[in-house]
Amino acid sequence: MNFAKKFPVRNIKNIKKYVELLNVKLKNGEFRLIHRSCICCKQNSEKILFNNDRNGINLKILMCKNCGFVYLNPRIDEESLRKFYESDLYRDIYHSIDNYQYKWKLAESYKKKKLQLHNYDPFGFVDFIEESKIKYKRVFEIGAAGGANLLPFRGLNKKIGGNELSKKLIKFANTKGIKLLYSNFDSIPLNIDLLIIQHVFEHLFDPEKLLKQIYQKNIKYLYIGVPGFVNIMPSVQLAHNFYFSFNTLISICVRNGFKPIKKAIYNSNNYLMVLFQRQNKIEEYEYNYSYEVKNIIKIYNKFRIKNFLLSIYRFLKINKINEKFRK
Ligand SMILES: [Zn+2]
Repeated sequence: MNFAKKFPVRNIKNIKKYVELLNVKLKNGEFRLIHRSCICCKQNSEKILFNNDRNGINLKILMCKNCGFVYLNPRIDEESLRKFYESDLYRDIYHSIDNYQYKWKLAESYKKKKLQLHNYDPFGFVDFIEESKIKYKRVFEIGAAGGANLLPFRGLNKKIGGNELSKKLIKFANTKGIKLLYSNFDSIPLNIDLLIIQHVFEHLFDPEKLLKQIYQKNIKYLYIGVPGFVNIMPSVQLAHNFYFSFNTLISICVRNGFKPIKKAIYNSNNYLMVLFQRQNKIEEYEYNYSYEVKNIIKIYNKFRIKNFLLSIYRFLKINKINEKFRK
């Protein structure tokens, strides 16, 4: 059933040349790939789900047969990953600077409101954090992009800061009056009350390494927002190394000293939001591995069948059109 392992590729013309460039860089080793065991349960027992991502980049998306965690393996190593984000090749494929202009406009019109979870709201995480009633003043964002996520916090009279690897985006943030540090994900100042990791955690090569560094910095609260894999199939892409569920995300954070105090999920796209509090004593979080595996396989099979039927439908439709022309 090789058909089942092909993730449907989107047909977007202007990114084709970047996709080809990336496939070459992956093949010739310019972007080095490394195989790692499951970061959730540390086992090496995997099932291949897909052999390509939504843009047609050749890579393997696997599920750990032991704990149900889904991730890319092998993955681009840390050094190549840094090159990837610095080079702006990532932005060329995934987000243009126009997206940041647009996001900035949305940020400017942000108003505190009751969190609603039907449709994804890029600034709903601010309401999510505010509704938790935690006390915080100093906010820092890792991988702050164009700085838009920080703007609502400035409006709430918080002290804001962040870091970013793309010089283009740092410049953009600067023109909007937000100063970002040019540094890797892991350089975080001291005395931060709330650390924000939004649309970033799933991009990291080694999320646990970052959690260990955060723990050392004595940060009180940690917010992580990631595209989730809970009841619908995520859109798989090279830039996302990991596809978290609440269980896998919380499991990794708890054993690194962060206990969840609030969680929520958007129904429309399964985006997960979890707020953690730093613990002095390290604990373990247990979840039902076999239930997790069953759930992932159920969603995967449903997705596979839907796409199979869709391809038959398209095939028949094309044949029908051809028949019409013959007549
Ligand atoms: Zn595992």
